[in-house]
Amino acid sequence: MNRKLLDKLCCPFDKSDLQVQVFHETEDQQIVEGILNCPSCERYFPIIYGIPIMTPDQYREKALELPSLKRWGLELDVDRESFRLEKPLAQKELEG
Ligand SMILES: [Zn+2]
Repeated sequence: MNRKLLDKLCCPFDKSDLQVQVFHETEDQQIVEGILNCPSCERYFPIIYGIPIMTPDQYREKALELPSLKRWGLELDVDRESFRLEKPLAQKELEG
């Protein structure tokens, strides 16, 4: 996805602005891998193969997303049904 699209994206649930952490970006500012995070409802939306996964919770397959999230070093509560990060992204960046 083009980095410029970030300005237009908001949380599909509460319309809050999203935070982003980029893991892989091409020279022409296409984000290939990253994660979006909603500070309001704390949901995360991974960007995998350049596609932001922003479908409703019930249509998401956690098992498909987990390998990418683990590779990115993100901690998740896998037992919970919700799509929320264990730690906020900002905190993670500080440790990094
Ligand atoms: Zn939200």
